[in-house]
Amino acid sequence: MPSIEHLKQWMHEHRKAVREDFFAFLRFKSISADPAFSKDLERCAEWLKNYLERHTKMVVELVPTEGAPLVYAEEMSAGKDAPTVLIYGHYDVQPVDPLELWDSDPFEPEERDGHIYARGAQDDKGQIFYAMIAMRAMRELGIGLSVNVKFCIEGEEESSSRGLSKSLPKLMKKLASDFLLVIDFGLFDKNTPAITLGARGIAAFAVILRGSKSDLHSGMHGGLAYNPNRALVEVLAQVWDANGRIQIEGFYEDIEKVDEKAFAFGYEEEAYCREFGVGRIGGERGKTMKERNGFCPTFEINGMSGGYTGRGFKTVIPALSLAKISCRLVPNQDPKKIGKALEKFFHERVAQGIVVEIKQLGGEKAFRSRPDSLLGKAVAEACREVCGKACKNIVSGGSIPIIAEMIEALGVEVIGMGYGLATDAIHAPNERFDFQRFEKGFLTVARALEMV
Ligand SMILES: [Zn+2]
Repeated sequence: MPSIEHLKQWMHEHRKAVREDFFAFLRFKSISADPAFSKDLERCAEWLKNYLERHTKMVVELVPTEGAPLVYAEEMSAGKDAPTVLIYGHYDVQPVDPLELWDSDPFEPEERDGHIYARGAQDDKGQIFYAMIAMRAMRELGIGLSVNVKFCIEGEEESSSRGLSKSLPKLMKKLASDFLLVIDFGLFDKNTPAITLGARGIAAFAVILRGSKSDLHSGMHGGLAYNPNRALVEVLAQVWDANGRIQIEGFYEDIEKVDEKAFAFGYEEEAYCREFGVGRIGGERGKTMKERNGFCPTFEINGMSGGYTGRGFKTVIPALSLAKISCRLVPNQDPKKIGKALEKFFHERVAQGIVVEIKQLGGEKAFRSRPDSLLGKAVAEACREVCGKACKNIVSGGSIPIIAEMIEALGVEVIGMGYGLATDAIHAPNERFDFQRFEKGFLTVARALEMV
């Protein structure tokens, strides 16, 4: 019997227990953005350590960081001449608000219409858990591996990987490997698997404009004091030209031209607009959907505030105005340089007398990898075997900031995989995943590791 059949049989026999264990994992309120949950993160990491020790016989360690602990595990029986695959995932999750929009408790997994609803069901508890189960099944089935396998499961991916990033220089030896398999990505479409060969980088900012010492009465001071909200929108309105081209000087300067023909993209404009209720396409005119999402940088105003937006009415000229801004970056753009360019843009254009402060809140470069690496070929082949369909090469429009740092520090070749779909509502109410995809993910990881 081919090994995929053994694996399917194993899952068939263990389905109930795997599901129960998965639900136990989902119950931890491992929200990394809020310090109130730091104990939950620790308990979740402890649970993972025990699970891996008990079921995979890997050597497991909780590595303390400045933030949440890192779950590290290794199975080095292939020997020091064999290649090593480092599997990356995360056990932390996004906050759950607005809670009232959830149809069931985000931390009490519930099965409805063939889906498992819970925060983290897909991102990334579901995805990293099927990889753990793959290691478990292979050990129990006695499937020997010709690669060494390491796990790096962090607890702060959703809040910029602070702990892992700080600890990286000390962990070089522990995490040393030839390949990095990031299991936090998605399918091409419902029936078509994909490997992710790159993601955009990110640069995030808070822009604060100050006009006066305190809020002022808009009658007593109206016509006298310049409104910082006005100053803010005046500058922001100049960011794009009529074609959606970003006007910040030097913004496009360093971009490395990538041949986007080698990559597939899942959406047609019309279908995309229909599915997400989007009334108008953003980005730069003249570019394809694929280029706009994966190969062009963006500038987004994520939020704005200043003055009064509560119930009723308050006639005020606010003392300050705030915008949160993030740019998605493409290969070779430097987040720090983008920050400097943004600062210059504001200082040159803001109404005189308004004080500008720009804080850089985070930044990470984009990454790209080859499709024809040993691991890339193995994952693609495993996907084809499991899904019965050839794998597409894609890039992610999103960012996993720590990956670029790990590539640089460890000199690894990276491949992203996953069974996520855009409809899984990750980071949103009613996040979901399903067991069909969970099992496909399980089979894919096991077969890919066997084939490397
Ligand atoms: Zn994730």
